[in-house]
Amino acid sequence: MKILNLKRLKPRQLIVFDIDGTLTLTKAPMDAEMAKLMAKLLVVKKVAIIGGGKYELFKKQLAKLARLRHPKPALEHLFLFPATATSFYRYRSGWKKVYASHLSSQERVDIKRAFREVFKKIGYIPPEKVYGRVIEDRRTQVTFSALGQEVVAMLGVKKGVTLKTKWARDNRDLKMQITREVAKLLPHLEVHAAGFTSIDVTRKGIDKEYGLRQIKKYVHVDIKDMLFVGDAIFPGGNDYAVVRTGVDYIPVVGPDRTKQIVRALLKQK
Ligand SMILES: [Mg+2]
Repeated sequence: MKILNLKRLKPRQLIVFDIDGTLTLTKAPMDAEMAKLMAKLLVVKKVAIIGGGKYELFKKQLAKLARLRHPKPALEHLFLFPATATSFYRYRSGWKKVYASHLSSQERVDIKRAFREVFKKIGYIPPEKVYGRVIEDRRTQVTFSALGQEVVAMLGVKKGVTLKTKWARDNRDLKMQITREVAKLLPHLEVHAAGFTSIDVTRKGIDKEYGLRQIKKYVHVDIKDMLFVGDAIFPGGNDYAVVRTGVDYIPVVGPDRTKQIVRALLKQK
């Protein structure tokens, strides 16, 4: 259920936050003000953070929070679910991996082969210049990026994004064709077009509904005792799947709104 009135919000055991666009700007580190608010929240609530990025990226984004001086048990109230909860980390005198459910090595080999077969079949001609790996094995997923994974890192944001936008505009049909053909070869996996130039292959059924159910199972808190906060809780948004769990949720438009919500939660008895 969508929560509209913060004052009427009943206290919850666990607050679940999406990360990108909710606690931080996309792929950016958490700012100092948010880190302070979250540190206070951790004293009184359990907090879970979920997002599509890898654990290594989470750690970078949350570095400010981890560095603050916390009352002893506070970090033990923080639960990290990177890669859309296909992995889980918690703090027990240091960060510990509880699980990471990677694609099997056979699956990852099959995915790379499927892309190569499709390229051959349709006579795919790659761009003249690519930047970094075109097919990246992220273990929990394998991602094809037409211009390479490092295009923005190597060319800078402005040039990189311009190039990606141009490729996406010129090759929309081609990308959908590759997606369809690869999906045919991998019926047991999820193949979806993502971003401007990418195609992701993951296990089936990995979304934020799956994520919330993993959180319930591993943090041992019922869905009805959770509150979810995210910036994409609308049809087509990557947080929308949580609605299917029946969780109470608050949509935000960005970290500033999230800060207001955290302040309201801190005022609760
Ligand atoms: Mg988000």
